[in-house]
Amino acid sequence: MPYVYSFDHKHRRPPMEYKDLLGGKGANLAEMTSVLKLPVPGGFTVSTDACRAYMESGWPSELDGEIEKQVAKLEKDMGRTLGDPKDPLLVSVRSGAKFSMPGMMDTVLNLGLNDRSVKGLATSTDNERFAYDSYRRFIAMYARIVMDAEGEPFEELLEAAREKVGGKTDADIPADALKELCDQYKALVKEQTGKPFPQKPMKQLRGAVEAVFSSWNRPRAIAYRNREHIAHTLGTAVNVQAMVFGNRDNDSGTGVGFTRNAATGENKPYGDFLVNAQGEDVVAGIRNTQSLDDMIGVFPEIHDELLEIFERLERHYQDMCDTEFTIEQGKLWMLQTRVGKRTGVAALKMAVEMTKGTGKGKDRWKISRDTALMRVTADNLDSVLHPQFTDKGTVLATGLGASPGAAVGKVYFTADEAADAADRGEEIILVRNETSPEDVHGMMVAEGILTARGGLVSHAAVVARGWGTPAIVGAEAIKISGKQFSVGDVTVAEGDVISIDGTTGEVVLGEMHMASGEPPPEFDTILQWADKVRKNKLAVRANADSGEDAANARELGAEGIGLCRTEHMFLAPDRLPVVRRMILATTDEEEEAALADLRDVQQADFEEVLEAMDGLPVTIRLLDPPLHEFLPPVEELKIKEATSGLSEQEQAELAAAESWAEHNPMIGTRGVRLGVIKPGLYAMQVRALLDAAAALRKRKKNPIVEIMIPLTVTREELALARSWVQEEVDAALKGMRNKPDITIGTMIETPRAAVRADEIAEVSDFFSFGTNDLTQLTFGFSRDDVESRMMPAYLEQGLLKRNPFDTIDQTGVGDLVRLGAERGRATKKKLKLGVCGEHGGDPESIDLFYRVGLDYVSCSPFRVPIARLSAAQAILRNA
Ligand code: ADP
Ligand code: MG
Ligand code: MG
Repeated sequence: MPYVYSFDHKHRRPPMEYKDLLGGKGANLAEMTSVLKLPVPGGFTVSTDACRAYMESGWPSELDGEIEKQVAKLEKDMGRTLGDPKDPLLVSVRSGAKFSMPGMMDTVLNLGLNDRSVKGLATSTDNERFAYDSYRRFIAMYARIVMDAEGEPFEELLEAAREKVGGKTDADIPADALKELCDQYKALVKEQTGKPFPQKPMKQLRGAVEAVFSSWNRPRAIAYRNREHIAHTLGTAVNVQAMVFGNRDNDSGTGVGFTRNAATGENKPYGDFLVNAQGEDVVAGIRNTQSLDDMIGVFPEIHDELLEIFERLERHYQDMCDTEFTIEQGKLWMLQTRVGKRTGVAALKMAVEMTKGTGKGKDRWKISRDTALMRVTADNLDSVLHPQFTDKGTVLATGLGASPGAAVGKVYFTADEAADAADRGEEIILVRNETSPEDVHGMMVAEGILTARGGLVSHAAVVARGWGTPAIVGAEAIKISGKQFSVGDVTVAEGDVISIDGTTGEVVLGEMHMASGEPPPEFDTILQWADKVRKNKLAVRANADSGEDAANARELGAEGIGLCRTEHMFLAPDRLPVVRRMILATTDEEEEAALADLRDVQQADFEEVLEAMDGLPVTIRLLDPPLHEFLPPVEELKIKEATSGLSEQEQAELAAAESWAEHNPMIGTRGVRLGVIKPGLYAMQVRALLDAAAALRKRKKNPIVEIMIPLTVTREELALARSWVQEEVDAALKGMRNKPDITIGTMIETPRAAVRADEIAEVSDFFSFGTNDLTQLTFGFSRDDVESRMMPAYLEQGLLKRNPFDTIDQTGVGDLVRLGAERGRATKKKLKLGVCGEHGGDPESIDLFYRVGLDYVSCSPFRVPIARLSAAQAILRNA
């Protein structure tokens, strides 16, 4: 297997399919050259194989010979030789991994220039100034990028040269001064790096290729790959390509172009170009660019040719492409293309429009609906749903966009002050160095969260994403001290207004205007197509605890509730005292009285939820958390006892809190275990639920109730709990004419329950996999403890590829889900199966849930559209 391939190499399949080997840029350069026959400057690609070999055991011995052979071919094709003192060939050296990857080495242009060939360039172009300007650029670029020299001193020398001739811009520096500058640059290289600037072109080339290889393992590149979940073993390719010069004269230029508008999705080519400019000048924003339409006036023929190429590219890739091009003395050259990045709005619009067909006559092409569905991503949907800024402001600082969406509010620096301000009706942004579980009450009321430290899996990021609260983390430029923060000389004090964009990570001073992400019409189109694919295969429900959430979820397309947590009803401020009374009860009468009070409020809650989901299944989970969560913290009461003393009530609460205190509450007396100890509790909940169902029935509604028992580990335990529920159901339904639809099932959230699902299914009508707890218990990770402290380190060091609380651990926890599904269905063929962990809204997890045969996934209401799309994609992908 060779290490190096020329752009016109005959591969067995179309080169664009060899991104693994050639990298994205190389594969597409080869595709444009050998398949599309577009005007591409000749060149070759040093493959990722070579890079991997280099990473393993240094520069492969065969590589020099192969590169020499390819250079010879390139020289022959171009009719020029590297380093030629008369008419030299120059090349660019460009990195290009499989995925476009910031953090890699920058492109080196004009390689091959040296003290001799620069003269050749001057003669062949009849332009001495151009030659020496290119040479001095090359020396500085090569020194900085390949030899790790500092860039600043080169800039200083350039400035000095400009001042010396009294010029305003670099263009005013004459050839002689540039010649001198080249000598100064070479001396500077020697001084800074201890090595002379390499004169031999082949030595320059080898240095550049090697620098690209080693840039693969730069910290910036590694950090990027960790974040984007790109494997560190891929390696990068290196493209060596003959130079063309957009900066030759006014008959030359360079630009970038998109075959459609990547921001709006409009089917109209879009682009920027500059006359007499090279490479990055267009994107660097030093000169004002011209639009593609302006090109009609400047280079009319090239404009036509370019648009024709755009059409061919689109037809060929069946998608929007972006391109880089250069015009050299009236001739157009294509330097790059790829399927282009786009905004969420544009992605939706393009996907739908491309199914309708574009192009004329025999060139007409279109994509299928399935292809369109596969092209839209969860992020695309996310970005059109979240509010966005409609105007531009002064960006104070940029951090990591941790949770998408825009938010405006007054800054507060502690959770308590944030909570107080929110009580006063203020909209607030919580600003902290980092957050911890102690800040949750402040985070909960915040419009947005901003932290100075932390990464994308920090506490703030994880919590904010879970709630759909916009957040920026790791905005290191902001320095918090007391009740203010500063960025440079700007100070923002408590109560000042800022705006944050959790998508871009931008912190903006003052109040930005926001448009509440009104999704474009294509949003519904795509989701309707997704629903058709999903029909009878994989349903999407929501986790919702109140009538309002349920109604919202239904609006977003939820087909029922997969998890209604009844404890949320218990924690409301007006309920908590009653719950405490129930726990503190010393006699049966007291307990029953408290339960009766609870029953009334629970019934009202249940009615709301069932009504909002009328005709759709609603899974109600009986009380799950450890009872101590309903009691005041022991510490707090102790302190009060020591200072101001406790009331009688408080003394009782302290005693109860102490007696219910557990070492490991999450694996203590909770879920069905609590039911075993306080059976009156579950009976009360079921009665309230049945009363609610009956009330709805009377109003000609159709409640479909699934009663779910949490944290089961054995068949016997579930059989007992089921018997209490069944007793209540039988009593309630006795003599009722219009009986509501009621089933009884359990959560599978312990490894034992998954393994013994066959037995548990004997007494269960359905399973819902609680993958949050199942993940905690399978890994032995206490989520609250590990997620902020240990997880970032594990992810950074690659000990875990993903945070298993975000994306299900496919081979561990996922395997338990598969086993539970298989064994459960072995007992009961029609056993209904679903999942209600947060994974229910994660695309990759949904793929696994579909493969193991679940009937539905359930997720937060705001993730429902994403789950609808991801479910359809899972079905198509696994078809
Ligand atoms: P990036 O991946 O950052 O886009 P590129 O390798 O595409 O980096 O190159 C950076 C710039 O250099 C681009 O503007 C590109 O057009 C220009 N460039 C690269 N190779 C050549 C070449 N052979 N001739 C002229 N310009 C080139
Ligand atoms: Mg490029
Ligand atoms: Mg649980």
